Amino acid sequence: MKKTYYQPEMETMPVEDIKKLQDEKLVRQVRYVYDNVPYYRDLMDKKGVSPDDIKGTEDLHKLPFLKKDDLREAYPYGLLATDLKNCVRIQSTSGTTGKRVVAFYTQHDVDLWEDCCARALVAAGGTAGDVCQVCYGYGLFTGGAGLHGGSHKVGCLTLPMSSGNTDRQIQFMMDLNSTILCCTPSYAAYIGETLKEKGYKPEDNKLKAGIFGAEPWTEEMRRDIEKSLGLKAYDIYGLTELSGPGVAFECEEQNGMHINEDHFLVEVIDPETGEPLPVGSKGELVFTSLDKEAFPLLRYRTRDICILSREKCSCGRTFIRMTKPLGRSDDMMIIRGVNVFPSQIEAVLLNCGYAPNYQILVDRINNTDTFDINVEMDPADFSDTPKTITAKEKELQNAMKAMLGINPKVHLVAPKSITRSEGKAVRVIDNRKRLGINI
Ligand code: ADP
Ligand code: ZN
Repeated sequence: MKKTYYQPEMETMPVEDIKKLQDEKLVRQVRYVYDNVPYYRDLMDKKGVSPDDIKGTEDLHKLPFLKKDDLREAYPYGLLATDLKNCVRIQSTSGTTGKRVVAFYTQHDVDLWEDCCARALVAAGGTAGDVCQVCYGYGLFTGGAGLHGGSHKVGCLTLPMSSGNTDRQIQFMMDLNSTILCCTPSYAAYIGETLKEKGYKPEDNKLKAGIFGAEPWTEEMRRDIEKSLGLKAYDIYGLTELSGPGVAFECEEQNGMHINEDHFLVEVIDPETGEPLPVGSKGELVFTSLDKEAFPLLRYRTRDICILSREKCSCGRTFIRMTKPLGRSDDMMIIRGVNVFPSQIEAVLLNCGYAPNYQILVDRINNTDTFDINVEMDPADFSDTPKTITAKEKELQNAMKAMLGINPKVHLVAPKSITRSEGKAVRVIDNRKRLGINI
């Protein structure tokens, strides 16, 4: 099969040339930020670094980090690098982990972002002949706007559905023969479940690919979604602070996501010490935007834990690859002293044949952490005797214990009793917060 790319000259550029391009762009961007963003200039001055010290990517480690707290402190205009009159757009984070952060875009920034999303769509087989149904939320959230813009750039017929109203999603998908579906993986799973309930088989729709991201999902969930919707599911990664979805995307190899290195310079650091780690080590992803005008961030700490790989990819793209985030450093719960990530729980559920409809409840009672997991049972099991249900709970509990090292209480609850998500799923309810415990 002939390989296609959206911007082949960039996406397949020899690695040495990428490095040269990044060197040049970094020097320019650091100067630009120093001259235009007093907040970051202060951080550089405090660290005793001047733009003249940055001669290429080898010098990146000399720059100070930016953290989400800096963005909150500088809210709303403190990190803006250009006059507001040059900006054409504001977007905002979903606020998954606290106060929202706003990001600004010039037209150039919007173009660059949409190009990144177009690369992802083309990598998933998107062409001008496709019908692309975008059911990420539109509005301040970057999912809708990003994939919408990318879909236009590729020339797909774009259905700007936004999230929600699942009956209408399905009606349009069927009536207008959607071939590409873009939404969060949890919403994709819900659409798949609803299709089945309505009596559709996976082969009844025309979908060939899905671009699913914005939240963690497992390989098991990928297989589930692919089966229920009859498509190939591609991952896409990004964050509002850097533009939105499309910072990295999967190619047909699906062996990690290619990071758009012409626009984003990536590092992995030790989250405890801040020391840069060699490619191949597991650590926190840190990004430097190389050519943004309105909201250029240098050494932004994502709190996403990943491993990078420079191994050659058979798709022909030369951009470095990142694993799926293996957890968000702030997603991690410490329960009875043990680190627990929701993704581990999800992996166990899917391995044991359950759908990813679950909720984790944590609390502290009499100075002991309580840890409960509610899991929806399969509708076919709903008529089981209490004894059988208890046995199934026990079985799942043992599998959880083996994976996590601690014992949760597993409760099988009625089908459909856990609220479905149309955007990012809320998996964890940590009531220890009411005690003012810093978790
Ligand atoms: P918020 O931090 O409020 O969720 P965003 O909506 O900008 O703000 O979401 C960005 C975050 O979403 C990323 O830092 C990452 O943790 C998560 N994310 C985005 N895409 C993916 C993905 N494909 N897999 C796992 N997590 C993802
Ligand atoms: Zn590839």
